[in-house]
Amino acid sequence: MSSIRTVNPATNQVVKEYPEMTQDQIERIISEADQAFKTWRKTSFEDRAELLHKVANIMRERKEELAKLCTLEIGKLVPEGIVEVEVCAAIFDYYANNGAAILADKKIQTESGLAFLMFEPIGVILSIQPWNFPFYQITRSASAAIMGGNTMVLKHASNVPQAAETMEKIFTEAGAPKGVYTNLFIPGSKVSELAADPRIKAVSLTGSEPAGSSIASEAGKYIKKSTLELGGSDAFIVMPDADLESAVKTATAGRLWNAGQVCISPKRIIVQDDMAEPFIEKAKKIFESVKVGDPFDSQTQLGPLCTEKALEGVLKQVETAIQQGAKLITGGKRLQGSGAFMEPTILTGVKKGMDAYSEEIFGSVLVIYSVKDMDEAVKLANDSDFGLGGTVFGKDTDKAVEIARKIDTGMVYINHVTSIAPEFPFGGTKHSGYGREQGEYGILEFINPKLIRVTTPESAN
Ligand code: NAP
Repeated sequence: MSSIRTVNPATNQVVKEYPEMTQDQIERIISEADQAFKTWRKTSFEDRAELLHKVANIMRERKEELAKLCTLEIGKLVPEGIVEVEVCAAIFDYYANNGAAILADKKIQTESGLAFLMFEPIGVILSIQPWNFPFYQITRSASAAIMGGNTMVLKHASNVPQAAETMEKIFTEAGAPKGVYTNLFIPGSKVSELAADPRIKAVSLTGSEPAGSSIASEAGKYIKKSTLELGGSDAFIVMPDADLESAVKTATAGRLWNAGQVCISPKRIIVQDDMAEPFIEKAKKIFESVKVGDPFDSQTQLGPLCTEKALEGVLKQVETAIQQGAKLITGGKRLQGSGAFMEPTILTGVKKGMDAYSEEIFGSVLVIYSVKDMDEAVKLANDSDFGLGGTVFGKDTDKAVEIARKIDTGMVYINHVTSIAPEFPFGGTKHSGYGREQGEYGILEFINPKLIRVTTPESAN
């Protein structure tokens, strides 16, 4: 059985399988991407923008169908899928509208003569993406690379092959020349070796730490640039002046988004001692009222985890946490019947040294910590190998910004869970990776900012 297949996590039934590509097929795809780069790099910004706008329009027109594909492949709720596709269209439009200005020649002030940067593409980018946002993950990587004049070979997660195939078809329908954007149907274990291919000029991976470390070390060996968007364990700090009701609502809704399988989900809630009990009570009430079930049903509030294996992993993490001394407030079990369903879960009493203190839990599990004051809250927020996002929630937004400045991550949102917008650079620090996607920084990652310095012959001596 091929590892590349759609398995509906709501039923655990295999829906469709794809054969792994052969060496010959891989060779042909990389060669076509390399050939395509030779002409794509010379296209005007207008032509590139036209392609991206067309991709955006097709996605918007077909948003329901694309959302339902996400539901089938990973159990995402249909409305969440629709929002995802709308965000993708906005990102394609953003780079189509702003790419030319960001990549225009940039004059450098210098003592005499002329100096400027021109922004050149570098070639074929190998992009490796995870399943949790089947279209968004591709979008943020491909939109910037292609607008910048690069071409892309895309290795999507093995459990979302239909989303991968659909995206390639959308590019073709939008008029992308052959080789500008192509799928690779290969397992993760065979990807890192591709970094050695001289036609691949850089790699970009979103996913887990082991996968990131594997591809980045291979890229480093061959002196190629990499960007890594890895896991996160975002802290959600509740300030003493916060409106408790809305803090609880925001944190719980954020944690249930995409069944908790979001790198920027608020995984660690940090409240002051005197607010802990009411916070826990309110969160418990919300989690116990959540309707878990068929992700195609419009009444459902929480679908399954993406695979049976993912469910088993999260259940094990919760069990270990309890064995190591954490307190289970609610949930913690799988739901009866077929499908990878889990009860929304709340843990308290997690302490340094327990696995749950340092691991990322990729499911609907809220861990609530209580601290004596905001200094301790910041210390706890920063006591993590991850450094992706974070939230500070409270009425005094100046004070919240002060706290945000002290948090050691790539993004901090005030009064909102960590989120996304086409113009905001997305990425982390520490073990959450390096590099950015989206915004101005995102498009510059795989670009050579080439200096041209003009000195007149008279002044050369
Ligand atoms: P994963 O196992 O690392 O898979 C991600 C991608 O890497 C898949 O395409 C996978 O292919 C491939 N892969 C697996 N092993 C590889 C290897 N040794 N070398 C190269 N590629 C390899 O990640 P996951 O556990 O499914 O995804 C969840 C993780 O992604 C979480 O930690 C989450 O926080 C993180 N994430 C981060 C961001 C961000 O922007 N920072 C966004 C979304 C998710 P196969 O599917 O074929 O194994």
